[in-house]
Amino acid sequence: MKNIPLVMILFGGSGDLAHRKLYPALFNLYEQGLIHDNFAVIATARRPWSHEYLREQVSDAIHETHEVVDENEISAFASHFYYQSHDVTNVEHYVTLKQLAHDLDEKYSAQGNRLFYMAMAPRFFGTIATHINDQHLTGSGFNRIVVEKPFGRDLASAEELNKQITASFKENEIFRIDHYLGKEMVQNILPLRFTNPLIKNIWNSDNIQNIQVTLAERLGVEARGGYYETSGALRDMVQNHIFQIITLLAMPEPKDISAASIHEAKKKLLDSLIIPDKDVIKKHFVRGQYAGSDTTFAYKNEPNVDENSTTETFAAGEVKFTEGPVAGVPIYFRTGKEFKEKKNRIDIVLKHINTPYGKAHSNNITIVIDPKSEIFITINGKRISEPGIRRENLDYTFSKEELAQVPDGYERLLHDVIVNDSTNFTEWSELKRYWQFIDAVESAWDEENKSGKPDIPQYIPYRMGPKEANDIFECATAHWIYE
Ligand code: NAP
Repeated sequence: MKNIPLVMILFGGSGDLAHRKLYPALFNLYEQGLIHDNFAVIATARRPWSHEYLREQVSDAIHETHEVVDENEISAFASHFYYQSHDVTNVEHYVTLKQLAHDLDEKYSAQGNRLFYMAMAPRFFGTIATHINDQHLTGSGFNRIVVEKPFGRDLASAEELNKQITASFKENEIFRIDHYLGKEMVQNILPLRFTNPLIKNIWNSDNIQNIQVTLAERLGVEARGGYYETSGALRDMVQNHIFQIITLLAMPEPKDISAASIHEAKKKLLDSLIIPDKDVIKKHFVRGQYAGSDTTFAYKNEPNVDENSTTETFAAGEVKFTEGPVAGVPIYFRTGKEFKEKKNRIDIVLKHINTPYGKAHSNNITIVIDPKSEIFITINGKRISEPGIRRENLDYTFSKEELAQVPDGYERLLHDVIVNDSTNFTEWSELKRYWQFIDAVESAWDEENKSGKPDIPQYIPYRMGPKEANDIFECATAHWIYE
């Protein structure tokens, strides 16, 4: 792999994301030679660490994620890391940071290339972007910025943040990251759709009855109640991960697989996204909160959560487009905390057909994203020893060996940023449409809250969410395939 020179400035260098994901991912890219002799990482945060202490942290992060490691390789890698104690709200600190970046650029011959990574609480993104601009932190080579989710909390704040970032960075220099787009089975959606005539030829509104996307979490909010109160399931999961998956499922075939063609196809689809009105939201959307049990707190009783909170820990709803191969087909989603198990899966439900054998099941195509990687198709065949039709699964589950080869999503996406491939990142025009949709639902739910009688079902923890979510389907016989 080509060695790409750069100085990376990581805001939030002492945080969880940096430790668990970014340091191990960078190490793997170092081992592959994508970054090697000509890179330096400046990790910043407020706590007063030394360069040495940071390097120990980096080394620990690699030991925690790798079974076999070469100690010399780790020390050589960690020697490229520098710590700068920095409060992102203090403008003086950017002056020191700028000097350090300049010195390391010279030391490592990094050719003026800068990669900024915002691995911090989103409320700081705008401040950092503003100071990068007013203190001229960008380099003379390429400049790229990676922005973590959430990008805003509604369209207005996302627009404001985008304005702050675009003061220093052009659209093609901004990488709005969503780690779901780095997942193996999410990256497999387009190849599955467009390389198999068996699938491609039935992927249309003549054959598909509905599509279902479920992102279920086993955990509750745990210690993050304070943050979750400002977000909720719709903003936390639907605005980004669920919409990204839906876009891949519904977009028209791109001209080719370049980033430009894929974004063009996505844009075409999203221009036709139907923003739901209040009636549709009432009929086809449901929110919920997990109730308590003998051993667990109800959401409203979690630490740092308002006892009258209207924040949803579950959301289900319907998405529709007027363009693309599945124009008009309802795409249902649901996501929630304290489900019976962690499970991310997509079910494509095909229409029933008349058969000379009488009633037969519909075919379904299922893509399991987590916790395993699996594709299965249900088919009908004859019963062996009695008349009638039975249902079978054609199943492909990734083997342990295959799974072992799958890079972590962050490794894939950091690689893409470094080689300047924006295919799996969100463009502003896409994000804007997602927020328009989310804002419409939030505003309908806000109105219900203000009416004093918000209709927020409480659901039994560790099952399948509120029973009301079984009634969001347009077709009376439709139901969740994953039950
Ligand atoms: P975190 O563990 O809370 O880390 C926050 C970092 O920000 C720490 O390094 C903290 O260090 C630093 N910080 C806080 N206030 C600061 C200030 N005023 N000036 C300078 N540094 C400051 O958060 P995280 O879990 O890593 O998440 C970071 C971002 O990644 C968030 O946007 C999150 O949504 C996103 N994300 C995280 C994960 C994950 O697995 N963790 C997954 C997906 C997305 P000091 O206290 O020393 O200043």
